[in-house]
Amino acid sequence: MQASGAALALDLLGDAWVLRLLRSLFRGQRRFSGLIKETGVSRAVLADRLERLCGAGLIRKAESPGRHAQYWLTDCGLDFWRVLLAMWQWESRWGTGLVRPPIPYDRPREEPVHIDCGEVADPRPVCDCCGEVVTAFETRGEITSVTPTSGPLTDSAPAGDTQRRFRQSHSARRDDLPTLMRVYGDRWNSSVMAAALQGARTFTDFSEATGIGAGPLTRRLQELQAVGLLRSRAYAGSRSEYRLTSAAVAMFPITLEIIRWGDRWLWQGQPPMTIRHLRCGQAFRLRWQCAHCQQALERSKLRFD
Ligand SMILES: [Zn+2]
Ligand SMILES: [Zn+2]
Repeated sequence: MQASGAALALDLLGDAWVLRLLRSLFRGQRRFSGLIKETGVSRAVLADRLERLCGAGLIRKAESPGRHAQYWLTDCGLDFWRVLLAMWQWESRWGTGLVRPPIPYDRPREEPVHIDCGEVADPRPVCDCCGEVVTAFETRGEITSVTPTSGPLTDSAPAGDTQRRFRQSHSARRDDLPTLMRVYGDRWNSSVMAAALQGARTFTDFSEATGIGAGPLTRRLQELQAVGLLRSRAYAGSRSEYRLTSAAVAMFPITLEIIRWGDRWLWQGQPPMTIRHLRCGQAFRLRWQCAHCQQALERSKLRFD
């Protein structure tokens, strides 16, 4: 992936632990020992990731004599709530989040509540300009990672059926990393996904778009198929063509939020990509809307704890 706020964000996230820690911090956990308990991370890894998050400005360490240090989200860290909301929205439809009990520890909350209407938030990604619900097929990015090209990206089975089948066939074991962590906690997987959204289909396409070596690329393509995000078909004899599944296309708002957050906090200067909403023709800004009361969702209006 070329240099961009999103690439910097994915570099920073780097692995699944960072996402887990952020979720735990959003739930209100502030102490070293509490973070270990909630996420199962080792002391050494936790110390390293907290340092990384401090260095990138997402959290700050507060120390006072005789008390345990606390880790607080900064404005930059708090602004990450939209990425987590987008992830929650995907998980509630496609992920293992519906498997309960128990509540997987890497969800921000079992059911984030919209304070304004008192309902469990059912966030919808809409265009801030025209108010229409947005899908991956209705936007065009100039330059990088979320540009759908011509032609259908997926099979068009009814969403409800596809979601059910996806969940049934990919209900993760408890010790398994959830699908999202596989994608956004591994920068090569996220590069492969971005390339697929840009229209990469063949091994050669992916190789050229991502610059990943043949061995690691083969493993990424296999892994993304195993978690149900890519599907391969025979093409030209022994070759395969790879397509995103509906579950993968539904990750589009997460990608948008990572781009937005990365451009805002990690990128200096003009964002390297503009996204246009094809329906209204305006520069696209994503707004999360409560499906119950139609109000825009704000962090202060959601209970994550
Ligand atoms: Zn629009
Ligand atoms: Zn509401």
